[in-house]
Amino acid sequence: MTRLPEPDLEADRGTLRSRDFDDIYYSPDDGLSETEHVFINGNDLKKRLGQQETDRPFVIGELGFGTGLNVLAACRCFEKNGHGSLNLWSVEGFPLSQKALAEALSSIAERWPAIAPWAEQLAAVYPNPAPGQTQVSLGPRITLTLAFGDVRECLINADFRANAWFLDGFAPSRNPAMWADDVIGQVGRLTKSGGTAATFSVASGVRDALQKAGFAWEKAPGFGRKKHMLRARLEKKMTRSPEAPWYARPTPCRSGEIAIIGAGIAGAAVAYSLFRKGRRSTVFGAGSRHKAASSNPAGLIMPRLDADDTPAARFYRDAFLEAVKTYSSLRRKAFTPCGGSTTAERSRFVQIQNLGLWPDGLMSWDGDRVWISQAGTLDPSCAVDDLLARVSLIEKDACRITQTDGGWMVQTAGETNHPGPFAAIVLATGAIQDLWPDAPITPSLGQLDVFDGAPPACIMTDGHYVAPLGSKVLAGATYAPFQGGPVAPTHDNSEANRRAARSLLGFEPGASVASRAALRATTPDRHPIVGPLYDKEAAINAYQGLSKGRKMDYPPAPYQAGLYAFTGLGSRGLVTAPLLGAHLAAMITDHVSPLPSDIAALVHPGRFLIRDLKRGKISP
Ligand code: SAM
Repeated sequence: MTRLPEPDLEADRGTLRSRDFDDIYYSPDDGLSETEHVFINGNDLKKRLGQQETDRPFVIGELGFGTGLNVLAACRCFEKNGHGSLNLWSVEGFPLSQKALAEALSSIAERWPAIAPWAEQLAAVYPNPAPGQTQVSLGPRITLTLAFGDVRECLINADFRANAWFLDGFAPSRNPAMWADDVIGQVGRLTKSGGTAATFSVASGVRDALQKAGFAWEKAPGFGRKKHMLRARLEKKMTRSPEAPWYARPTPCRSGEIAIIGAGIAGAAVAYSLFRKGRRSTVFGAGSRHKAASSNPAGLIMPRLDADDTPAARFYRDAFLEAVKTYSSLRRKAFTPCGGSTTAERSRFVQIQNLGLWPDGLMSWDGDRVWISQAGTLDPSCAVDDLLARVSLIEKDACRITQTDGGWMVQTAGETNHPGPFAAIVLATGAIQDLWPDAPITPSLGQLDVFDGAPPACIMTDGHYVAPLGSKVLAGATYAPFQGGPVAPTHDNSEANRRAARSLLGFEPGASVASRAALRATTPDRHPIVGPLYDKEAAINAYQGLSKGRKMDYPPAPYQAGLYAFTGLGSRGLVTAPLLGAHLAAMITDHVSPLPSDIAALVHPGRFLIRDLKRGKISP
């Protein structure tokens, strides 16, 4: 069962008490002073944030998000002392609802005005909690990644290295699961050498667990009536090879400009995320913007509804929520939230609802269809233009990339002056893969049509779709393997779209007033390709043992330094691009990714090679 348990709470002397654990969230005497004493000073954050390098974020992990009080105190400390950026990652297994958190934050803001600005921001962005990871912004340089789920599962699936930890999971005597050796062992795995942890507890089990995880601990004076607390420092990295070293994060690119080849939705999304992280990029390619699906008259922002809890189900859910959030925040009005409905059996809808994977209230049953109120249509060119508004754009297609000692150079057709050097390259060229000849991409041809006639009030899908487009009807889309030749609409495809529209609308649409054909980039498993590219020969050598099922300590992935792919978006590119752009930008810049490891693996470019090695289909 995936659904998250709701906390059973009561107010207690100005703090919250959990009836499940019979323990309080923070001190009734003065919660903020306790937080500052135990977690902020216990990790020496004022000094360390002041000395922070600006080319990498300071990362704080937390066990037990609760009301967010510790996170707010960290934001304030960063704002007063820090440079660069702050990444917070916090796990919570019994999340407060939006309403309960808003109430808790309002009393926190009233009681401690010094942290009120962040309390208000957190209340505004805190999601309707659902299992999995979600990232929100608490300020221009502060991101918070919330991992909703059991602590053990979330830590195993996390992939970052923290500078400091707040261990705040109720008293060990009341909640031993939060302090188990393997949980604290994961904290050790996720800590940078020399990173620290602090906790109010001095229980011997906690001290032992920290020690086993490689931390040296010391007792320090506790807050208020508590005599002692613990401060710990990671002295010895317990070498624990990751489960799947072939999907390890690449060495980040700490400085320098990034070149993005392709100015469609993928290129624009990663450029936008890099910009938000303070990194400069240059995007190449007027062509792709006008050729690919990114310049269709409109696209759908509709979710894929899965009835099982899998990494793919979580990925497409998170992608939909991120797309709605990103497109709704654009300056130009690219997104029209008209809502959408899709055909489904009622039993399947009930199964999806019972799974608890989707935030409550996001979908409902309206008779014979599932209704998704947040769905809508997107004007892709308008969205791409807005995402690229603050990015340097060279409106020419790149025809060659070369790696030199100083970085990557980009050659554009007919030019002798090669821009560069760039610290990294992102290949975001959709179905056209001239620069990555063995990309596992198959182009598929799709056509949509715009018909005269009364538009539907909302999107309707059943495999095909109709959607309102001003006073017209948008209908699509056809699928056919691309055999080469011109990418042009055909009468047969218009008729196929007309038949599908008639069936969905219940009446015959008017004349076709526009038709558009474009290529989709599809992959063998139909999931996108986003991440670092292997040096193929070196990867085959490194992982050839997989073909014999050999269990051994495999080396970390041999990537081509600074080379990334962002393609294979299929027919869901407008939905998946914002989340994937944020993931890729985080990977390039060493920030905490919004994606947990199982989803990062789902989209990793190396997965096809690893699969083929495991199946013995490749011999070195
Ligand atoms: N840091 C919080 C704050 O600033 O309000 C207070 C945290 S409270 C002391 C402990 C938190 O740990 C609770 O929110 C509780 O729901 C969470 N928790 C307890 N057991 C957990 C588990 N097994 N997995 C994830 N979270 C858990």
